[in-house]
Amino acid sequence: MQPSWKHFYPQLKTAVINLDSLDSLLQQAVEKMIYLFRADCLLWSGLEWGIADTLRVFTTIDTANRYAFSLGFAYPPPPLLIHSGDALDLEAEDQLKIHQFRPRSLPAWLFDQQHLPQILQLETGDLIIPITNRGSCFEPDASGLTIPNPLQFVLQLIRPSARNPATTGITAPTSSSSPAAKIQGWSAEEIEALEILCSQLGLAYSALYWRQRLEQSRQQSALVGRVSRLLNSTLNPDEIVGRIVAELGAGLQCDRSILVDLRYEPVNILAVWDHPNRELHPLEERQIRQAYWQNVIDMFMEGGASYLQLGCHDPTPDPLQVWLQDIKAQSVLVVPLFIQEEFFGGVALLSYQQERSYLIDELQTIRQVADQAAIALTNAQHYQRLWHRQEALRIQNNSLQLAILQDELTQLMNRRSLERELEQLSTGTIWTIHPPFCVIVCDIDYFKHVNDAHGHLVGDEVLQEIAKRLQEQLRRGTPAYRYGGEEFVIVLADTPLNRAIDVAERLRHAIRAGSFLTTAGSLDITASFGVAQQNLSCDHSAWDVLRRADKALYEAKRQGRDRVYALLP
Ligand code: GH3
Ligand code: MG
Ligand code: MG
Repeated sequence: MQPSWKHFYPQLKTAVINLDSLDSLLQQAVEKMIYLFRADCLLWSGLEWGIADTLRVFTTIDTANRYAFSLGFAYPPPPLLIHSGDALDLEAEDQLKIHQFRPRSLPAWLFDQQHLPQILQLETGDLIIPITNRGSCFEPDASGLTIPNPLQFVLQLIRPSARNPATTGITAPTSSSSPAAKIQGWSAEEIEALEILCSQLGLAYSALYWRQRLEQSRQQSALVGRVSRLLNSTLNPDEIVGRIVAELGAGLQCDRSILVDLRYEPVNILAVWDHPNRELHPLEERQIRQAYWQNVIDMFMEGGASYLQLGCHDPTPDPLQVWLQDIKAQSVLVVPLFIQEEFFGGVALLSYQQERSYLIDELQTIRQVADQAAIALTNAQHYQRLWHRQEALRIQNNSLQLAILQDELTQLMNRRSLERELEQLSTGTIWTIHPPFCVIVCDIDYFKHVNDAHGHLVGDEVLQEIAKRLQEQLRRGTPAYRYGGEEFVIVLADTPLNRAIDVAERLRHAIRAGSFLTTAGSLDITASFGVAQQNLSCDHSAWDVLRRADKALYEAKRQGRDRVYALLP
């Protein structure tokens, strides 16, 4: 029995009722058209106005290959059909499947269709059928004039027999008042059936599309709600940024979402979320270079753009494309993050399986969530101070803990306590987001002489007096730590290097200013100081900063002692 276009109806209906994906509706439609009309078929989609969608073409690999030369179909790269003997590289079944492609260049007739959608036949014999928003191409307005409806798709049908049209053409019965056109190789009935099918397809698509948009906007407002509740529920900044990227990734169904600090080299990835069903390689150190992001950074810093979408095949040259190729991702969306109006970095949503472009609603959602991430990061800046205060309170209220964390001889905080502080400063988000801190290391000059000349007990008296003088010069809440035998460490939060140098000078003067009164008489003591500021481009943790401060101390000793030496970043 001759297949009838009427068989197509139930299929559309099922698609709408089952809420199939839009893509699968289009794929099914193309498949049916090929079958019903015994023609090669290309469906151009993504022509709607005001939608941040990119143009795609649905067709078989076979047809795509035939058109690849003129249109340069890019995505997914059509597999090359290499005939090796009789064997084809591809399964025959796969050739019949409908795939999506992305053309690199557009045929001229498509632009004409956008201005004036109408059924026409190209010189090559290809039949062009526009599918518009409201079913038919033309609709009379109030004044009775016909105005074209916004174009949704264009169907391009190729029937090999129509490539060299016979001389006897038929006049296509185009709907209403569009100009009659000579269509060759197609019967009037077929054209009529095609028109009906196309208008049904347009309607089915619209129904699914709006249903999907509604569902998306529901999900997205739920997402924004969840993220804002999250901000109120926990204080740990690592947890917050982790959950924000997870919510974004899962909510927008991307393959990987990351939150990245772009202020320094190397770029610092604060949080990563991977789709649970994808097995993605973790980003390697070498893949994270600021150079890849330079264009993006410049663009956002200039304040011109609120997001950037980039596919690895886009013709715009951007170093980030090299990155995409390197990590084997297809496309990325980057939304910038500013913290208290300072550029910080961005949220990047990566698609590995296929190139993805986001709808305007989705972009707005991402923007809102990114703004909330910025709030979370601002809170993280305050978190460290809060931790400090809580820690001090905890220790005050717990004499056992005090015993563990305090040095018996000097009553300063001990090495273990310093380790906790350094640990806290080095944790994920705090490490990056907290304003730079400085570390001062202090070592008594020629202390061995004191011990040798006067004995250990006098040495201990000196240590006690040093501790007193150091702590007197520091604010409440800034402890001096006894780090080793006669070595002390001070961590200055939120302090630029020049101020830390001033503090170290003050400490140095406090030690050398007056003699030390000991049981062995008065002694003149001096100490040397090394200072370093946290530098994200060379330090990976607070331990690295301490190591550099130690290096600076060594230099202060080498230059003659009783001095402050600071390592410039
Ligand atoms: P430099 O200027 O190079 O620092 O000379 P220095 O003599 O101070 O050399 P160094 O820092 O290596 O000397 C550390 C000395 O501190 C050795 C050790 O006997 C002494 N020391 C370490 N802990 C204590 C302590 O708890 N009490 C006393 N009395 N001495 C200590
Ligand atoms: Mg020493
Ligand atoms: Mg010493």
